[in-house]
Order: sequence, then C-alpha cells, then structure tokens
Amino acid sequence: MKKSHGPAFRSARIELAMCSACRGRAVVQGVFHELPCAQCNASGWVSAETGQALPLDVLVTQLSFRLQATQHQIKQLRRPVLMNGPAVQYEHNNRRGAGGSNYTGD
Ligand SMILES: [Zn+2]
Repeated sequence: MKKSHGPAFRSARIELAMCSACRGRAVVQGVFHELPCAQCNASGWVSAETGQALPLDVLVTQLSFRLQATQHQIKQLRRPVLMNGPAVQYEHNNRRGAGGSNYTGD
C-alpha cells in the first residue's frame, strides 16, 4: 500500500470533547424516536477548544485519528497474549533467576 504524503494535506489534530447536548451519544431523544444531535453533527464530539461542532470533512479525519489511537491501544493491551517471543524469554529468565538464587540460598 502506498501512502500519499502531500505536503499541503497534513491535517492537524484537534482536541475533541464530548458533546454536552447528547453526552457523546450522537443522538438525542426526540418525541418518538432518537434524532441525530445537531450540536455535534451527530458525532458525539465537539471541538474542545470552541465547543462547536466540527465541519464534516474535518470531523471524519479527527474521528479517524481517534479510532486509530484507540485501535493502537487495544493492540498494545493484547500484545502480551499474542507475542510469545521476548515476553516468554523474559519470563523464562526471570524464573531461572529466582530458582537460581533459591538454590544457592540452600
Ligand atoms: Zn451531540
């Protein structure tokens, strides 16, 4: 996969805050059913700086950044389970160290 690195298209990260109108749910309770929250462009997020909804094209990119960061975090959390290289080695060394000291202590 080739990524395009256009110098003009480099989106700055905007700090997002939870929309207070819908409490981050992106929808509000209407009379009969839920309606898209107008306060946050139905995203659940607003600009932390201004408290206003972001334009849709900006919002999509910012949400993508957030999703990527979240997925990265999930990956990090799962890593010890999936990895059996250095993690196993570390545990092995650790056990050998503890066992060794125990042996010499006797
Ligand atoms: Zn909202």
